[in-house]
Amino acid sequence: MERKDVIPELKCLEPGDHLCHFYTDPAERDEVAVTYFHLGLDRGEKILYRGKATTWRKILVALRREGHDVDSLLARGELSFFDSREAHPPGKPFDARAALEFLEGEAAQCAAEGWPALRVLGDMSWVVDRSGDWKEMARFEAEINRLPSAKSCIFLCQFGSGLLDPSFQLELLYTHPKVLVEKEVYDNVFYRPPGEYLGNMHSRSVLSHHLDNLKERKRALLQIDEAREFAEAIVDTVREPMLVLDAALRVVSANRSFYRTFRTMPEETEGRPVYELGERQWDIPALRRLLEEIIPLNSHFEGYPVEHEFAHLGKRVMLLNARRLIRRERGEDLILLAFEDVTDRQRAVEELRRREEYFQALVENAFDAVTVLDGEARHVYASPSVERVLGWRPEELLGRTPFEFMDPEELPAVLEAFMKGMEEPGTVHRVVHRWRGSDGTWRVVESLGSNLLHEPSIRGVVINCRDITRHRLAEERVHRLNRMFLSLGADFLANMETVIRACKEILEGDAAVYARLEEEKLALLTTLPGEEGFFFLQEGDRFAGHPLLSGSHPRPLVIREGAESPLEEDPLAKAHGYSLFLGQPVIFGERTKGALGVYYSGERPFSEEDLETLIILSRTLAVEEERLARERGLKEFIDVASHELRHPITLIKGFALSLKERNEMLSERQKLDLLTAIDQGADRLTRLVENLLDVSRIERGQLEPDLRPAELLPLIRHAVNEIRTAGKDVSLHLKANPGACLLDPDRFLEVVYILLENAVKFSPSDSPVDVEVEEREFEYMVSVTDRGIGIPEEERERIFDRFYQVEKARYHSKPGMGMGLYIAREIIERHGGRIWHEPREGGGSVFRFTIPR
Ligand code: ADP
Repeated sequence: MERKDVIPELKCLEPGDHLCHFYTDPAERDEVAVTYFHLGLDRGEKILYRGKATTWRKILVALRREGHDVDSLLARGELSFFDSREAHPPGKPFDARAALEFLEGEAAQCAAEGWPALRVLGDMSWVVDRSGDWKEMARFEAEINRLPSAKSCIFLCQFGSGLLDPSFQLELLYTHPKVLVEKEVYDNVFYRPPGEYLGNMHSRSVLSHHLDNLKERKRALLQIDEAREFAEAIVDTVREPMLVLDAALRVVSANRSFYRTFRTMPEETEGRPVYELGERQWDIPALRRLLEEIIPLNSHFEGYPVEHEFAHLGKRVMLLNARRLIRRERGEDLILLAFEDVTDRQRAVEELRRREEYFQALVENAFDAVTVLDGEARHVYASPSVERVLGWRPEELLGRTPFEFMDPEELPAVLEAFMKGMEEPGTVHRVVHRWRGSDGTWRVVESLGSNLLHEPSIRGVVINCRDITRHRLAEERVHRLNRMFLSLGADFLANMETVIRACKEILEGDAAVYARLEEEKLALLTTLPGEEGFFFLQEGDRFAGHPLLSGSHPRPLVIREGAESPLEEDPLAKAHGYSLFLGQPVIFGERTKGALGVYYSGERPFSEEDLETLIILSRTLAVEEERLARERGLKEFIDVASHELRHPITLIKGFALSLKERNEMLSERQKLDLLTAIDQGADRLTRLVENLLDVSRIERGQLEPDLRPAELLPLIRHAVNEIRTAGKDVSLHLKANPGACLLDPDRFLEVVYILLENAVKFSPSDSPVDVEVEEREFEYMVSVTDRGIGIPEEERERIFDRFYQVEKARYHSKPGMGMGLYIAREIIERHGGRIWHEPREGGGSVFRFTIPR
């Protein structure tokens, strides 16, 4: 039962105590009595009151008010009352022996009844008028101390001090080991043990008792001093700064840590109000209110936070604790204020929280889905990414096992891996399995599981899941592409068919097509049954992939059905009801050779991988086209080369035969002409062979000009004169006086010959050729201009290709093998110059090249 502690000191009374209460007014007397009983009842002690009936009734009322069930206490005998009037009738003298016997009897009965102690209260107000009994009374009080039963009893005797003679009160002081005055309990130093008090004791032992008393007092004082020093030493050595404040919140003292921590001195601190200290960092109205309440309300506070940027400490967080200190001897109230620096702790907590958030965020934002299973394989955690990876919201998985979502056929393998993981904690086990999403679709998932049930911070099986459906598909595609590559052979048509078949299968189309440009017309090769080989499309621009052929659409093209969709016109789409087309141009070099396309009857999205596959397949077709072109080029070259070689050989053979068979009939002059013609034919053959060797050197990267300082003008003059000797009209125009350059004279001459011979070869026999030499900032430029057949715009670059001849040259109205310009370009570029063709205004060609100065 809770009760306000009116007299806290009464709590420490124990059986064996004998206490004398001097009170000044009856209210104090009653208050003590009620408290005394209340504490006894709380301890389950038996209570005996000897006093006036009126006071007893008041006590009972007070106990009732405090919630004691007084009637049953009385009935049980826990509470009992003896009227002092009856015990000590007014006419009769006080009988100490009878009174002691009464107490003995009560104590014995109490013990027999099993109560822990007997708590007696004697209201002695009746002795006031009976001064004749005082001596007997004192004897009685002394005897109580040596009653055999005293050890199991607590005696409290109440005396009204204002009414009694001081000499009697002195006797009472000698006979009670403890005294209660003004609600304070004192160990009574004036108490004399009964033997001494009642006079049958030796004065020597009285003396030694007094001396002991003196020693005792001194020891007590020393102990107090020691205790104070001890306390002060503790306060000074604790690491927390501490202040002692008075009621006006002025600093009475501070410990060493306070001075050290806040870098201050006693003279700046002692005597000053706490809120004025330092930079007035403690001048916080709420804190001041709390401190001001401590003394009047006997309150305390703990952990009041103050954050401040301290001059020497930087930003710190301090927790303030305060409680009331009472200094009894001086009767003043003080406050102990302690400062706890929690900055580092708070930082550590903050850091921990940050790291926790960091790891949480890592898991939550991880690309893989992370789930945690308990020992029964039920989900206890699922990261947000499970929605993307597994197709379920995290909360939908909680409490369910992953096995529910798997293909029953794959379950044995998954369970085997799971059981292995359970048997080998900490090891990682991988399984690939199918997983059903909430929309019923299946995906291929790779799961890595690690049994961390033993790990106190996790206590679960951690699973990382990754959707590898696309990865799997891509792998399968790569396999199919590889199979296709391996099946390619020497036959172009068969290869093209293989490619479009693979295109249809891998991209899951209804039909695939290769639309190929052949001499301005469009030839189609499709996977449609019954349409083997290329067939020409009458109106090529109706093909849906036609935009791909113009080169304006180098990226994949997707065409869907709809109003004004090109599919409306497309003959394949029309004939077979296709509603979707995906196409990609087939390009090699810089020329679009055709387009590869897939047709679909239904709608479908295209992934990056789809487009990539289409591009790979179109490149495969481009490689085939290139191979085809090279093969054709080689065939043409062989035709041209055999023709070119045969021509001089036939001539030589003819002239040689004439010489042999008609030798007798020929004049010396005719013989000389034939021999000259044979010589020229042999030169021509040598030149052809040398050109072929040059081409082969270029191909192997071995055409290395032998650069040295040389004049270029004499070389040009020499070449021009050579051609002039052959009867051609060549004029030389000098716009500069070129000096020496770094060049290989033989190779340089070769270039000038190639250009001059071409100019003569591709112009009417009597038309003039001009050679011009100009000087530019860093180079000399040589131009050869003819008035011949010229070169079409689109051929202007290709004439420098190996074995390339403009169409008409192929019919061999002119000799040549398409090697000259190829060799010329290589030589000029090896000299650090450039060579190009320009059309001549008014017809014909201008070939220009530069040589660095
Ligand atoms: P070729 O030995 O066939 O002349 P070139 O490499 O020297 O080989 O020339 C390549 C082609 O360029 C020739 O076949 C011809 O079609 C064209 N060509 C070269 N020079 C001229 C020119 N001056 N006028 C017109 N066509 C030319």
